[in-house]
Amino acid sequence: MADVSRIRKFSGAADYTANFVVKDEIDRFLPGGRHFIDEKEIERCIAEIAGKPADPALVREIIAKSESTRETLKPSETAVLMAAAGDPALFAEMKAAALRVKKSVYDNRIVVFAPLYMSNLCVNGCRYCGFRSGNSEQKRRVLTMDELREELDILAGRIGHKRIIAVYGEHPSTSTEYIAETIETCYSHLVPAPNTGAKVGIRRVNVNAAPLPVEDLKVLRSVGIGTFQVFQETYNRRLYGQMHPAWSVKGNYDWRTTCFHRCLEAGVDDVGFGVLYGLCDWRYELLATVMHARDLERWFNIGPHTLSFPRLEPASGTKVPEESPWLIDDATFEKIVIIARLSVPYAGIIITARESPESRDKLLDGGMTQLDCSSNIAIKGYSDFESEAHQEKDRQQFMLGDSRSLDEMVRHLASRGTITSFCTAGYRCGRTGGCIMDALKTGREGKFCKINAVLTFREWLDDFASDETKTAGEKLIESELAGIREWLPKFYPAVMKQYEATCRGERDLFF
Ligand code: SAM
Ligand code: SF4
Repeated sequence: MADVSRIRKFSGAADYTANFVVKDEIDRFLPGGRHFIDEKEIERCIAEIAGKPADPALVREIIAKSESTRETLKPSETAVLMAAAGDPALFAEMKAAALRVKKSVYDNRIVVFAPLYMSNLCVNGCRYCGFRSGNSEQKRRVLTMDELREELDILAGRIGHKRIIAVYGEHPSTSTEYIAETIETCYSHLVPAPNTGAKVGIRRVNVNAAPLPVEDLKVLRSVGIGTFQVFQETYNRRLYGQMHPAWSVKGNYDWRTTCFHRCLEAGVDDVGFGVLYGLCDWRYELLATVMHARDLERWFNIGPHTLSFPRLEPASGTKVPEESPWLIDDATFEKIVIIARLSVPYAGIIITARESPESRDKLLDGGMTQLDCSSNIAIKGYSDFESEAHQEKDRQQFMLGDSRSLDEMVRHLASRGTITSFCTAGYRCGRTGGCIMDALKTGREGKFCKINAVLTFREWLDDFASDETKTAGEKLIESELAGIREWLPKFYPAVMKQYEATCRGERDLFF
């Protein structure tokens, strides 16, 4: 059990809203009151590229820098790529480079996960979100630990997910103590797999929750949190203020923007950035993302492990997702992802099932590294509904676009020569934070994880796959093993030993 004795307690929603933010834990990361999101610099970069064609030589120089160093670009360099994205020939070069960067860092793997919504009670009033307080169209609930286990029976036991992103509203009823208990429950709940009866369970719990103080983050670290993901929504302070009422906890822009600095101080060293695209000019958001990554690198030598690209989706009781003047189309969305891939080359790129199957498939060629499938975002949706694809607007935050199952997705990816990775070895072997940053930038992680991807893929095919998917998967494994033999001839016998043990039914073997 986690030691929660140092976590502050609140008497209710009003007390929480008034007292949750710890001012000193903002101020120490904004020395001299200067914010690392430099609005003037962002505006200068945008003005600089306005109406001007990009210089092809400069664009190629920036692409080459991204590919060879895999270091975060400067905002001014990202701005040049933004200008170039308007030129079809240069954009084609950027796209090809984005895929090369992805392959050099992550090889041909795609990591899969599923969202698991724990609660929809919220003290905040975000104008675009179905969970905001005061939205009477939403049916509210917080999963009990028994209900959570029922959800895990489906997610881990029937579908076969090993990785989840646990999602929480912001409310005293889902305090850090509750979040820690849900993480512990996820790790400890093992169920028999349908094809083999092997004991299976969730091996990595990533969390998407509100920004927390340092002491609370230390508690989440102690129970083995994976990535801590917080979406900034918009980096534009003025628009942020319009979407997040000043009376709410989330209305505090500086508390949110400094949350990853607190994570890294607390030792939660895997952090996931995101912007809710559609609230502001996408160019502003991307330039600010780069500034945010560079400031974290400056303080801690660690940047974002992942970047997420949620787009505004229809939600209950709000018209913002339909009426925002900043909504983006599919072509712009593709540009954003490609520019992000080149601007923060080492970061994983997550494209969620908010997107349509067509949009996600296109981005498989644009540098995406993680996706969710068999997703249901209703609270207790996995165990209550006959199929994960079933959606009910008044029980979920927004509506999903891609309802493909994990089995379908594995088969689809295999047909493209892409291996689905269920590997979760990294954080369990201490390959997180600065260590993973290094491994990613040098390309070591991509190779290392290939072996673990093959082992976990074999497990999954045996435990969960339909016959059709198993056939497609086994063909891919053959070529992956041949690749490993060629690449690591001396190490190959050790790999085969683990592989054969996995085929015999041993589980959770990794390097
Ligand atoms: N409550 C926490 C917070 O806001 O940080 C974490 C969970 S919140 C349920 C997760 C994310 O959902 C938000 O950060 C926001 O980006 C996204 N979201 C909210 N409303 C959305 C909508 N209408 N369409 C797409 N994404 C939305
Ligand atoms: Fe609450 Fe998060 Fe929704 Fe805002 S986005 S209303 S904080 S759940």
